Formats: sequence, C-alpha cells, structure tokens
Amino acid sequence: MSDAPMTPPNTNPAAPTPLTIAALQRLIRDRYYATDHARGTPATFMWFIEEIGELSTALANNAPGKSPTAEQRANLDEEFADVIAWLCTLANINNVDLTVALEKYTVRGVEGVKS
Ligand SMILES: [Mg+2]
Repeated sequence: MSDAPMTPPNTNPAAPTPLTIAALQRLIRDRYYATDHARGTPATFMWFIEEIGELSTALANNAPGKSPTAEQRANLDEEFADVIAWLCTLANINNVDLTVALEKYTVRGVEGVKS
C-alpha cells in the first residue's frame, strides 16, 4: 500500500458492517433496484462503462510520476467505488449473486491467470 491518505472512517450508521460484497450488493439493490431494473441492462452497461472511463482517468491522474492534487487522489477512491457499485447494479438486474459468482475465486480457486 502507498502512503496515500486513508479514506475517512465510515460514520454512516446505515452502512453495512462488516462491509461485504453481499452487503454492498444488497444495499445497492435496496436503494436502486426499481430504477435500475426500469433502465435495463443496455443503458446500465453504458453507465458502467462510463465509470470505467472515469476510473481510467483517475488512474492516469495518479500514475507514478504524477503529482495529483488531494482532490484527484480522493477521486481515485471514488471511481473505484463507482465501478463496484455499477457492477453490483448490473448483477442485481441480471439475477447474479456476486458472492456466488466469486466462488470461482474464493472457493474453487483460480490457478494461473484470471480468465
Ligand atoms: Mg464516477
């Protein structure tokens, strides 16, 4: 890990503790499912890819040799969060349980490169 400043502690009493993939997916479902389902997969996938682009920009702004501002460093964390949130959304509207899907890594194990 870097010496970058840590994200402030969670002070939201409604936040799931501990924060697990399942808890995050449930939180996203509880808050946004109706809207996400109505939007559908194609438009939601476009949002997801937009967030991937924002993450790409944030990674570039924080790349080795760069001198990111505090705002740019904070934005890097934010964009990782956005990508995970939109991935949860896509999973929710496609009936994918990410905890089960991740058993590929957590239970069965993956050898060699990710596939
Ligand atoms: Mg974003």
